[in-house]
Amino acid sequence: MVETKKSHTEKLSSETRNAQSVWAECLEIIRDNINYQKYNSWFQPIKPVHLEDKILTIQVPSQFWYEWLEEHYYNIMRSTICKVLGEGARFEYSIVLEKAEQEQNDLSVRLPQRSTPPGNTSVSSQGNGYGSLYPTEAIENPFIIPGIQKSKIESNLNENYVFSQFIEGDCNRLARSAAIAIAENPGKNSFNPFFVYGGVGLGKTHLVQSIGNKIRQDFGDQYSVLYISSDQFTNEFVHAIRNNRAREFSMLYRSIDVLIVDDIQFFSGKEKTQEEFFHIFNALHQEGKQIILTSDRAPKDVPDIEERLISRFNWGLSADLQMPDYETRYAILEKKSLENGIEFDAKIFEFIAHNFKSSIRDLQGAIIKLLATASLQKIDNIDLPMAKRILKDLIKETKKHISIENIQRLVCDYFGIDPNKVREKTRKQEIVEARQIAMYLSKTMTKSSLKTIGLHFGGRDHSTVIHAISSVEDRLTTSPKFQQVLKDIQQRIELASM
Ligand code: ADP
Ligand code: MG
Repeated sequence: MVETKKSHTEKLSSETRNAQSVWAECLEIIRDNINYQKYNSWFQPIKPVHLEDKILTIQVPSQFWYEWLEEHYYNIMRSTICKVLGEGARFEYSIVLEKAEQEQNDLSVRLPQRSTPPGNTSVSSQGNGYGSLYPTEAIENPFIIPGIQKSKIESNLNENYVFSQFIEGDCNRLARSAAIAIAENPGKNSFNPFFVYGGVGLGKTHLVQSIGNKIRQDFGDQYSVLYISSDQFTNEFVHAIRNNRAREFSMLYRSIDVLIVDDIQFFSGKEKTQEEFFHIFNALHQEGKQIILTSDRAPKDVPDIEERLISRFNWGLSADLQMPDYETRYAILEKKSLENGIEFDAKIFEFIAHNFKSSIRDLQGAIIKLLATASLQKIDNIDLPMAKRILKDLIKETKKHISIENIQRLVCDYFGIDPNKVREKTRKQEIVEARQIAMYLSKTMTKSSLKTIGLHFGGRDHSTVIHAISSVEDRLTTSPKFQQVLKDIQQRIELASM
């Protein structure tokens, strides 16, 4: 009895030794052939467990790990094992399946190495709802090994968001040219990170995804691209922590070549996520990987974000997207309807371009509503009166919340003063200026009469309002800087009133 046991143990240990020495040889070759950091991350933690015939079984920490190796290191692993053990040799994986409770032993599953090299990583617009990095089944049930197809990293890009569909105008010129330069030379430009900001519906997502799509198109698998919203990032991170996968999460992100994180204002107040992102950011930046971020406001204005992150956001280039001017709105309308194979009368475009000024999404909404109504009601030719009727509600909706109170609040917000002050008698220079601007905008952005406006500003009479309006108009004609200030405020009011 005792003897049998002993010989069994001996057999095991000699087998392990063998597996170990073979794996050590493999590691030497692999180390010489890949970047040291990647070697450290992905190969160091692997344990050799068994050697039989020409099959070396290695233990990897998770099913995800296995998929990653198969996806990214198939060729080198295959040729290495053949070099060490001869033709026909291969790996087999033993995967430790993590369990929520730690008290039991690790459960493991064995999987063979594939017999053919992996195909191309596909660009897909569909995430799995949880984020792009974990195969759907793996999230829901960590004990199921998904098919190899599922293991592919999804770039998460919407293939409709391309540069050729992105109309250029004064409102986006800088951001667009920088985006193209980045797509031509990811990571190797001075726009790293590239920080795009601007209000809702102004094209941030479209622009940054265009970069990703162009890189995928021009460089194929040479660069791994990942688009993710900050919310998804946070969800994945939380999920990773909950499942003891934080390390994998971090490594995975660090191995991406072009990382696009959309709407990072939603990192506000999420300290743990920010910290994780900070480390990922540093690792990527250090390695010359491209980082692209968007937000609804400039880096310095994003609330509750750590100072050290904000300062990094400023390392590269920040570019804003403004509300498109009339001509650009017109061009976008033309393009969108052309895409849909419908021609509208120029007067209809003019009407829409005049009435939908706050976001490109609204412009599209207007065109879509016209198209939908035309097709539902089987109308061949929409004329202007009909278009006006169809769009009446939408226009009302986009304008409905602009009130004098909102204008006062946003103007005061802009200048950092207390909104009550503009209604009081104060004659302090900065308050007078804010009051005059708010009066001017109340006149131009609402249908209120001079009298009503005066009443909202502490019961002033209409001649005070007239005076305010004309002094703002004077400044507008002489100061481009003032024009810009007014444009910014107006944009904020429109965005806030949607
Ligand atoms: P944001 O991310 O800033 O909220 P999106 O990128 O989602 O805005 O843009 C809203 C819609 O407007 C999208 O359908 C997008 O394709 C379209 N769009 C935005 N900017 C442009 C542009 N310059 N040319 C054409 N379409 C645009
Ligand atoms: Mg967006």
